[in-house]
Amino acid sequence: MRFSDILGQEKPLNIINAYMEKSCFSGGYIFSGPEGIGKKTVAKIIAQKLNCTSSDKPCGTCSSCLKTEKLQHPDLHIIESDAAQIKIEDIRSLQREANFRPYEGVIKVFIIDEAHRLNPEAANSLLKILEEPPKDSLIILITHKPQNIFKTILSRCKVIRFSPLAISVLEDVLVKDYSLDRFCAHFISFYAEGRLGFALKLKDSGIFEEKNRVFDSFALSDKPLDRNLLGHNKEQLRSFLNIMASWFRDIYLLKAGIADKQLIHLDRKNDLLKLKLEFSFKQLDGILSAISESMFYLEHNVNSKLLLHNLGAQLWKV
Ligand SMILES: [Zn+2]
Repeated sequence: MRFSDILGQEKPLNIINAYMEKSCFSGGYIFSGPEGIGKKTVAKIIAQKLNCTSSDKPCGTCSSCLKTEKLQHPDLHIIESDAAQIKIEDIRSLQREANFRPYEGVIKVFIIDEAHRLNPEAANSLLKILEEPPKDSLIILITHKPQNIFKTILSRCKVIRFSPLAISVLEDVLVKDYSLDRFCAHFISFYAEGRLGFALKLKDSGIFEEKNRVFDSFALSDKPLDRNLLGHNKEQLRSFLNIMASWFRDIYLLKAGIADKQLIHLDRKNDLLKLKLEFSFKQLDGILSAISESMFYLEHNVNSKLLLHNLGAQLWKV
């Protein structure tokens, strides 16, 4: 991959290119922005560019590029963990490696994914490295929660911000490059909030059909909520609640007179137009609050049966 393959990130890429042209891309950086928009991919391309042995960097074919691509380059280190915290042991290994000269390339690249998970000891240890970054080393912290990064770390890094794509741009990409139906692309672009990586995961997940199933079974039905149809695990319930919220959000905004292209469920516009006559703003406020409350309880592990019972009572009393 090359920078030109990364869509919609011209601003951060221009900044990065400027650093690279001046050969001053070393020390600590924070790539911040929502998940699924290419921050880590860009960090890997940087590693490839910096250590590529060809004149046209990254060539993608030299031994260094191939090793970086497979994450097997001895001068590329990625710290990522499923654990809740990044611990001091992880940073100690970074420190040890950073003190060595590059093995094969010209620079050692360290990528710390989900850097907001650094625990205080690990952050302190990293801070010491950032205060006097070893020569020939680049440390890139990736985060979608920059507010949770320790201020001392922030002050030692250059922050580069990445943004999601505009919804209409992502929609066009999904239609042209991934042959999605226009309505499906429209829905997924909204649902993914402009995040290409997330949209690509969603497009094969059946979410478009699922959201219509939810709509037909619940929003258009006057029967009580059948919890057996929802699934019982947290992920399924979260998805159900998100879909419900997006339906009622559309009805609300349609009543307020928004343009068609702002509807998430543009494919069901006719149904939404019918429903908008059935609900008052007050009722919709109540429903959206009930869904939002259910999401809160779901995240706090309230019993799912109870949660759905309460939500059903709220939704169908209006
Ligand atoms: Zn190369």
